[in-house]
Amino acid sequence: MSKNEKFTTKYVFITGGVLSSLGKGIASASLGLLLQQRGFSVTMMKLDPYINVDPGTMNPFQHGEVFVTDDGAETDLDLGHYERFLGYSLNKKNNHTTGQVYFEVITKERKGQYLGKTVQVIPHITDEIKKRIFSFEGEFDFVLIEIGGTVGDIESLPFLEAQRQINLELGSSRTINLHLTYVPYIKSAGEVKTKPTQHSVKTLMEFGIRPDILLCRSESKLSRDVRQKIALFCSVEENSVVEVVDVDTTIYEVPIMFAKRGLEEIVLKKLNLPESKLEIETWNKFVNRIKSPKHEVTIALVGKYTKYRDSYKSILEAFIHAGSINNTRVNVELINAESINEETVDEILGNVNGILVGPGFGHRGIEGKITAIKYVREHNIPFFGICLGMQCAVIEFARNVCNMADANSGEFDKSEHNVIDLMEEQKKVTNKGGTMRLGAYPCTIESGTKAFQAYKSKDISERHRHRYELNNNFKQDLIASGMIMSGHSPDGNLVEIVELKNHHWFVGVQFHPELKSRAVTGHPLFISFIKATLQSNNKTNRNKKAEN
Ligand code: GLN
Repeated sequence: MSKNEKFTTKYVFITGGVLSSLGKGIASASLGLLLQQRGFSVTMMKLDPYINVDPGTMNPFQHGEVFVTDDGAETDLDLGHYERFLGYSLNKKNNHTTGQVYFEVITKERKGQYLGKTVQVIPHITDEIKKRIFSFEGEFDFVLIEIGGTVGDIESLPFLEAQRQINLELGSSRTINLHLTYVPYIKSAGEVKTKPTQHSVKTLMEFGIRPDILLCRSESKLSRDVRQKIALFCSVEENSVVEVVDVDTTIYEVPIMFAKRGLEEIVLKKLNLPESKLEIETWNKFVNRIKSPKHEVTIALVGKYTKYRDSYKSILEAFIHAGSINNTRVNVELINAESINEETVDEILGNVNGILVGPGFGHRGIEGKITAIKYVREHNIPFFGICLGMQCAVIEFARNVCNMADANSGEFDKSEHNVIDLMEEQKKVTNKGGTMRLGAYPCTIESGTKAFQAYKSKDISERHRHRYELNNNFKQDLIASGMIMSGHSPDGNLVEIVELKNHHWFVGVQFHPELKSRAVTGHPLFISFIKATLQSNNKTNRNKKAEN
């Protein structure tokens, strides 16, 4: 809520041009953070031009990770950046796709709510988009709206039209347009080229949108001449041409770079808002520890989507946060589970300080994951299992410690020992989407466990995205052989966390802790895992011990 009663919500639009992957999500989140650190309340919204009603159905190989919110929305991974930078939980109102907008309009049409009118892109689709953008009115000082894709894409047209109309309706004291472009350095010409930026701005203007601020991504600093040229040709004030130079180490440096250029000050000035003090010291310290840490560890992330790092985006970011808190550089090696077997495991995993077996769907790579878990269990190397990774840990333990040779998950094989399975009531649901446990659920933690040591609390809440659960029929057998069930749903019915007795650090969780790891504060389990890897019992350390 705004501290100032009279404050009306301001709308900051962020579009992109020239090419994709310029880091619009990070740029938006960085500006959000800076406004927040100047004392304003900020929320962020991503408008995705694709027709999918939610990104949950999209292949992680193509689209990266699906980010799940507390209220169970399966959203674009940019929401993850927003949460990590802003430091609080967003919800389904913060991400909208073209598919959702059309779905809503068509549903209304089917119900006869348009009273026989011709239903059109303008005004019906655009009104639906505007309704969603205005859904935070009065609740926050700033709403930052990032429009996915690049200007000129057919798909994003209705979003840009909504932006144009809002510009017109609210005027320049309540809306501001930022446009992120690319200024390439052409080696043969020995100079940077501003033409792509000029064209991109021209396209934007064809839609009736005039950028107030240009964020110019480039490999190197832009000279005054270049910024003047861009300003002149794009009709933007010179001091509003802000270079975004590639940061060499970490995306968390982007807000610091923006602050040096005074980006949020320009925004405040254009909106006639008073300048307040920027609180950036804690963030600076967080970034300094990422850039020059005291220690270093290597973690193997064993999974199946290893060709595309964005598939594990939140896990990789959670390692950066936990690394900073432990003053440690965390190198993450993405290992394809299919490359691991009894012959290769020692060579592949022998020298890492810890392994994380990640989430996933489908049977590919399962046996490799189980072999990896057996190796770290037997060698007392820190292990962290997330969702499918936890399920594999239970299967491994059942097979190799509880003598259930055919143990498996009902997802992969129907066997006598489906130690992981659908719950009885789920089995009746045939629609796949209907059986997924999605969003935040409470969990109660047993004291005296590794989980309790990490969270320092009995009651936690974590996000879920899975169908299968630890099968309670085998719970007692697993416990009798030394598995600890350290977290349960409050009714005690679902196992949420497993650990091993007599192991340095072996924790598997049914939920997705990575989705709640935030910059500066990190996540308790990741922090605790990295701490454990600093004293890893890997091959190097075992050899050292043997020599002494
Ligand atoms: N495939 C498993 C399930 O549906 C695990 C899902 C996951 O790792 N997110 O339960």
